[in-house]
Amino acid sequence: LLTVEGLSKSFGDRQILKSISFTVMDGETFVLIGPSGSGKTTVLRCLNRLEVPDAGDIRLGDEPVGYRLVAESHTREALSEAALARQQRQFGFVFQRFNLFPHLTALDNVAVGPHRVLGLSKAQALERAATELERVRLGAHLAKRPSQLSGGQQQRVAIARALAMRPRLILFDEPTSALDPELVHEVLDVMRALAAEGMTMIVVTHEMSFARQVANRVMVMADGLVVEEGPPERIFGEPRDARTRQFLTHVL
Ligand code: ATP
Repeated sequence: LLTVEGLSKSFGDRQILKSISFTVMDGETFVLIGPSGSGKTTVLRCLNRLEVPDAGDIRLGDEPVGYRLVAESHTREALSEAALARQQRQFGFVFQRFNLFPHLTALDNVAVGPHRVLGLSKAQALERAATELERVRLGAHLAKRPSQLSGGQQQRVAIARALAMRPRLILFDEPTSALDPELVHEVLDVMRALAAEGMTMIVVTHEMSFARQVANRVMVMADGLVVEEGPPERIFGEPRDARTRQFLTHVL
């Protein structure tokens, strides 16, 4: 579903991503782990072009992300703003901080995108929002505002908001790291259920038990490089790279 080849990104004179390549299959839960500052968040932000990569190719299905190929001249042409926005909508994004509208109810927070961006009628958008909030087990809290919800509930609203846009895949950037420890599991449970339903997900997380239990594949990053990649049993059971072993001894 998603192919990344030679992705590089610098901020100033610091190269944060050093030619990263990986592939994510349809329906896969692909988990990115690695030390703080290794570039995991930057990978996610490059995938849906919240950051513009310096080099590399990203393809979503058959489509290059961020540009189109001009057949006659074999050159690349940047996408128009509207075409880029259409492409970005195929990626759901769930942030560490939930970024909900404080003055809107949970229902309206989820309905606003389908209504304003996808052009659904108000009634259709509300119906879809209610369905997605049921899916993240918030059916009893539709009318509450973010301040009346716990952090775990707010993050589940944010997941419902992403789902309501019917993305082809969802990027999760440390979705539980802003939560009180006792609220982490309710968010991970919802993500586990989505994985079981076959939603394609790329997840940056420090929750190693989630990575172990739910990931189809784990990619380990250090210093802007892919250190190794493989099924979780192998990465956690028989890490091959010294940097993986060092990272795991710190977090396990
Ligand atoms: P963490 O687990 O702490 O979130 P990470 O692996 O996700 O770490 P990134 O957030 O991708 O790492 O950051 C990698 C490096 O890039 C960091 O040193 C960070 O300071 C730097 N960086 C990220 N975004 C920018 C930016 N917009 N401008 C300058 N430097 C940046």
